[in-house]
Parts: sequence; structure tokens; C-alpha cells
Amino acid sequence: MFQNKPEEVTTMTSFADRIARAKAAYGQRLAILGHHYQTDDIIRHVDFQGDSLELARKIESLGAEHVVFCGVFFMAESAAALARPGQKVHIPRMDATCPMAEMAPASRVEQVLLALRAQGRNVIPLAYVNSTADVKAICGRFGGSVCTSANASAMLKWALDQGDAVLFLPDKNLGMNTAAQLGLPASDHHVINVQASGGRVDMQAAAKARLLLWPGACAIHHKFKPRHIEQMRQAHPGVRVLVHPECAPEVVQASDGAGSTSYLIKQCAEAAPGAVIAVGTELNLVFRLAQRHKAEDKTIIPLKALTCSNMAKISEQRLAELLESLDTAPPVTLPSNVTELSRLALERMLRICA
Ligand code: SF4
Repeated sequence: MFQNKPEEVTTMTSFADRIARAKAAYGQRLAILGHHYQTDDIIRHVDFQGDSLELARKIESLGAEHVVFCGVFFMAESAAALARPGQKVHIPRMDATCPMAEMAPASRVEQVLLALRAQGRNVIPLAYVNSTADVKAICGRFGGSVCTSANASAMLKWALDQGDAVLFLPDKNLGMNTAAQLGLPASDHHVINVQASGGRVDMQAAAKARLLLWPGACAIHHKFKPRHIEQMRQAHPGVRVLVHPECAPEVVQASDGAGSTSYLIKQCAEAAPGAVIAVGTELNLVFRLAQRHKAEDKTIIPLKALTCSNMAKISEQRLAELLESLDTAPPVTLPSNVTELSRLALERMLRICA
């Protein structure tokens, strides 16, 4: 539909203009979704902005034929699994992957899960949404589900009720922080050794634990340390420190509050004028919050300046190029069994947390 006429697209035409022109040409046939960790250059073009859960929920209600997902690949995969027949999901960079999701390759997850279940316990897999579609499909197949940082506590509680133990993956930090929130004692969880296809799992320790944690972590949030909080408190006496639960448990414990992206946004919005808040999450979101609340006399500062290089792969140029070739660009596709089973796992989550 959108014809990119070379004489019109000179180097003088900004990427923003090209995006605007493509959006106008597609009209209701196009919806652009953007994750909070995207840069402002991208966020200004999106129709819907949100965290993983909010964007996953949005898919069902979208009538657009083309859904462009500005985020990382696992998010586009989830959108593809939840898309209506005939709806095409695209991502401006197929190589915008999440290093944490890649720490749990599906073949190894299945081998480890089977090794754990071979001990006679009904181990339920629960995958953080930051995982591949293949891993979500394993969760669907073995009676498990998916969670986000916003609903991890409700979903872990649900999963613990479904069987003898839960295999939580890939983020051990979110798993441990959620276990602490639910009051599970440390003796009830165990970080498993996933090497040698499950051959190195300490089965004795695993048999005693109700929560088995995959040893993955977010490359960004894992870099926040308690010393950053100490330094922040020294530099800004009275500062309120809020962090994302992908941070290590010792960081969460040293903070004044921890929660999902939506929680961090809400806390900044509800803070009183004059508040000084240090936020421990991806820098693009912290900058946006600082700008949004500056006029309300709130000071919002990054706990440490950390950006996700994979989220940053989505540039205005790539978005413009994708939109100009949307009718012929290959969409994100999944094998039918992966679509079916990952959708089953995602729909369980959406139903449980309706
Ligand atoms: Fe993955 Fe962390 Fe980047 Fe999110 S911020 S995409 S979890 S590496």
C-alpha cells in the first residue's frame, strides 16, 4: 500500500517524517507498540506504550492488520502468538534479542525439566515473559504458565498450587524476590546447576525445595549493587530508592521499594512535590520519568546510568525502513505447535490475572 517514491525520500527527509508519512498511509491498518525502555525518538511514534503485560493484553483488542513491536524479540514473539489470524507482527530489528531470554535455551529447559520430573515430583514450569516462545510452549505443554514482573507473585502462588514444585526461569533474581514477597523461606528454594543437560542438578537439594530457580539474570538490572544505593543515600540524604525486581535480592532489600515498570511509574506519579527519587531500572525510562515530573518539582534520578543495548537497536531509521516495506517485510512467525502451546501458557496468565 505504502509506496516509497525515491524522489521524495531524500537524505533531507527526516526519519520522523518518513515514519509519519507511512503511518498516515496505513491508517487503521497499522498499530505501533513500544516498550517503556525504548528511546524517546521511538516512543513519540508509538500508538501504545507499556510494559510487557500491558502490551501483551493490548494485542487481543487490536484490529490492525500490521502490528509493529518496538521492543525486543521475545515481546514480538508473544505478540505473534496472541495475534488474530491474518494479523502480522513485525519488529524493526529481528536481532534485538534479550540476553536473559537466551540464558534459557528451550532444549536445555526441556532436558532439565524432564530430569527434575523423573524424580517423581510434578514440577510445574513458570517462565518469566522474558523468555523465548519455545520456552513458553514448554510451559504450556507441562501445565505451567508465564508471568511478568507485575504479576509474578500471583503467578508463582498459582504455580505452587498446581504441583509439588515450580521451575522458575530464566530470572533467578525475580524468582528469589517474588519468593521473599510470598514469605517462602530460603530453605524452600534452590538455584539449580543447568549444565550437562540437567546431569549436574543436585537432586537431593532439588528434592527438598519447592522453588527451583534457573540461574539467569538481566544483563542490566543485575549490575545494580547495594553500594550504588549507599552512595546515592550519601549524595542525596532523604532520597527514596526504588528498584525493579530483576535486581539482586540484596539490592531489593536495601531499597525503599521494588516493583514492576508500572509500579515505578506509578510511584513517581504519586510522589509529593519536592520528592527526590532514585530509580534502579533502564535509563530511558528513568529519563522519561524525570522529564515528565520535572515541572511538578520532583527530582527523579537514575540509581546508575544503565541502558539495554538490545532495546537500543530499535532506531528511527530502522522503524522508517520497516514501515516503508511493511507489505513485503517478513513478519515474526512461529511454528504452529509453538504458537498453540505458547499461547496456551500466555492465556493462562491473562486468565489468572484478569
Ligand atoms: Fe533483557 Fe534486561 Fe534488556 Fe530487558 S533490560 S531486554 S531483561 S537484557
